[in-house]
Amino acid sequence: MLVLGVESSCDETGLALYDTERGLLAHALHSQIAMHQEYGGVVPELASRDHIRRAIPLLRQTLADAHVQAQEIDAIAYTQGPGLAGALLVGASVACGLGLALDKPVLGIHHLEGHLLSPLLASKPPRFPFIALLVSGGHTQLMRVDGVGRYELLGETLDDAAGEAFDKSAKLLGLGYPGGPAISRLAEFGDPAAYQLPRPMLHSKNLDFSFSGLKTAVLTVVKQHGSSSANICEQDKANIARGFVDAIVDVLVAKCMTALKQTNLKRLVIAGGVGANAQLRAALDAAAAKRRYEVFYPELQFCTDNGAMIAFAGAMRLREQPDAARKEYGFGVRPRWPLDELRPPQGATTP
Ligand code: ATP
Ligand code: MG
Ligand code: FE
Repeated sequence: MLVLGVESSCDETGLALYDTERGLLAHALHSQIAMHQEYGGVVPELASRDHIRRAIPLLRQTLADAHVQAQEIDAIAYTQGPGLAGALLVGASVACGLGLALDKPVLGIHHLEGHLLSPLLASKPPRFPFIALLVSGGHTQLMRVDGVGRYELLGETLDDAAGEAFDKSAKLLGLGYPGGPAISRLAEFGDPAAYQLPRPMLHSKNLDFSFSGLKTAVLTVVKQHGSSSANICEQDKANIARGFVDAIVDVLVAKCMTALKQTNLKRLVIAGGVGANAQLRAALDAAAAKRRYEVFYPELQFCTDNGAMIAFAGAMRLREQPDAARKEYGFGVRPRWPLDELRPPQGATTP
């Protein structure tokens, strides 16, 4: 079965073709980062308009790269939520319009399910069940995953998401948008002993997170240097970056280890943009090796938003429930949509 995936929840337009027999055939992505950069964050209206411009050319490119005719597509999976309403509407209308034109069924996919299953696209995929740490721009959640659609929320952030903390702290240091990768690179040159920043909720008994205090701690340090980040020398910026990264990584690693211990599971899966972070990967690998746990990551290109994870999530659902995609082309998007509202594909047996 050949599934077309369409992603447009935020500032990436992603198209992909996943075949249940042959795997990922092709994918194409356009990131709007450069366009939003001058505003210091995503401007929703600009995002929607750019998705409109990019979707069809990316579709053509994906079909050409896969050497596939549009008629060969069996089903179309699109991100139905959560995300920016206008941006989601573009992907949904492209998918449903295409479905109508080609007489193919369509299926709305939960964006976080896409992230969550993206490590299964890797050459060495994890088996269910596992603990998943979803660390993206908008979410930080620990989940127990027993199969497709079998997600139990164990803990989540009470305020900022991990990616948001990276971006906001980077902004305070004058590193531009999105600052996650930049603050991570800078931290490599920082002295870990220079700044000890707080590790919020490290010792709380639960699996929840809180990162807004850490961002405030970065702000306090920046203010100690004067009115703006321009007054901070490069080495000191690197030291602050290092203090920030060490603190957030410590908390994320500790909570993952607690979740594994509490559930008695041995496999940990990381998903979402912050999963690309080198310091987090190194610290998780070290902590897991000590305890004989296995850690799985998505390929770097599939950590942040992409169409491949949506095509894949669609294919996983359709494999278990072929009638999950319907020839019903009236669509609605769900800008807010809790992941634990999802149900397993009907007809699925316990894995
Ligand atoms: P959501 O999926 O929750 O709706 P999103 O789609 O915006 O949010 P992603 O695309 O998964 O989030 O991830 C983007 C986030 O990942 C940004 O906050 C970005 O700074 C962060 N990020 C990307 N690469 C790195 C990195 N190497 N280190 C730290 N953070 C990173
Ligand atoms: Mg993005
Ligand atoms: Fe995302």
